[in-house]
Amino acid sequence: MPSAIPPFRYAFPFDTADLPVERADVVVVGSGAAALRAALAVHDAGAGVLVLTKRDPSESNTNYAQGGIAAALGSGDSLDAHLRDTLSAGRGLADPAFVREVLADGARAVVELIGWGARFDRHGGEIDFAQEGGHGTPRILHAQGDATGAEIQRCLLARARALRLRIRGNAAVVDLLTDGGRCVGVLALDPRGRPRAVFARAVVVATGGAGQLWRETTNPDVATFDGPAMAWRAGAALISPAPPAPSSLRRCAGRGASCGTTGGGAS
Ligand SMILES: Cc1cc2nc3c(=O)[nH]c(=O)nc-3n(C[C@H](O)[C@H](O)[C@H](O)COP(=O)(O)OP(=O)(O)OC[C@H]3O[C@@H](n4cnc5c(N)ncnc54)[C@H](O)[C@@H]3O)c2cc1C
Repeated sequence: MPSAIPPFRYAFPFDTADLPVERADVVVVGSGAAALRAALAVHDAGAGVLVLTKRDPSESNTNYAQGGIAAALGSGDSLDAHLRDTLSAGRGLADPAFVREVLADGARAVVELIGWGARFDRHGGEIDFAQEGGHGTPRILHAQGDATGAEIQRCLLARARALRLRIRGNAAVVDLLTDGGRCVGVLALDPRGRPRAVFARAVVVATGGAGQLWRETTNPDVATFDGPAMAWRAGAALISPAPPAPSSLRRCAGRGASCGTTGGGAS
């Protein structure tokens, strides 16, 4: 925790004593791939989970991802080959140990998605791996050509619903509630914009990226950097807030937005 709490601790003043209150074991904020996978893990661990998401549960960057997912699952491919290609494309900027972990986890996640019913494109019954720039072999899975993200979103939502996870749309979270430096829940809006407190033993923030800070973006309206902003107000240290390029700053100035990070995507 940083020594000084930022001056704007909450986005607006409130007293939880005046608000409707709910409780959950774990609150997951967001309903993209990261949030839904986290919610499923919480469920698997036997805890109750409440997913709060800004708009319709299917609205996310995940839903618009197109090209596909790279995973070393094809015959003749290997984690080492995928690692070599990734480090080469990274031109010395990537951390080999971290990349290896992500690639191994990624391949496992793809196998898991297939097991949960994700329908990736096939040719002759086998996964139809495409080859893209930077990859020395075909290893890109895709769905309906360029609707890969929509298929992942569909698959994860279907699984979460089949397991009866509580998922609430039109429930934007605006702040993390803290007590003595510990996160104890969230302040969320109901569909009519009225605040309510949701107390939880743990909170997962998976609100995606910041694309809407830029004038030109492919990201949907929900990508407004809310999670890092509320975490920062709560005193969390943000890692890797890369300084925006001057061209990005000019674009932000044109929108009247303030920028603290780059992040055109939504990781
Ligand atoms: C057009 C496009 C093409 C892409 N193509 C690819 C590709 O080919 N391959 C690839 O790997 N990646 C691609 N990406 C990137 C990929 O989509 C993202 O990296 C990934 O989906 C991020 O997932 P996420 O769960 O972190 O965030 P998201 O999927 O954005 O989910 C964030 C969730 O948080 C919710 N949320 C936000 N703020 C709040 C709040 N205050 N309260 C409650 N909920 C909130 C949102 O509504 C959303 O449900 C593409 C992205 C776009 C936009």
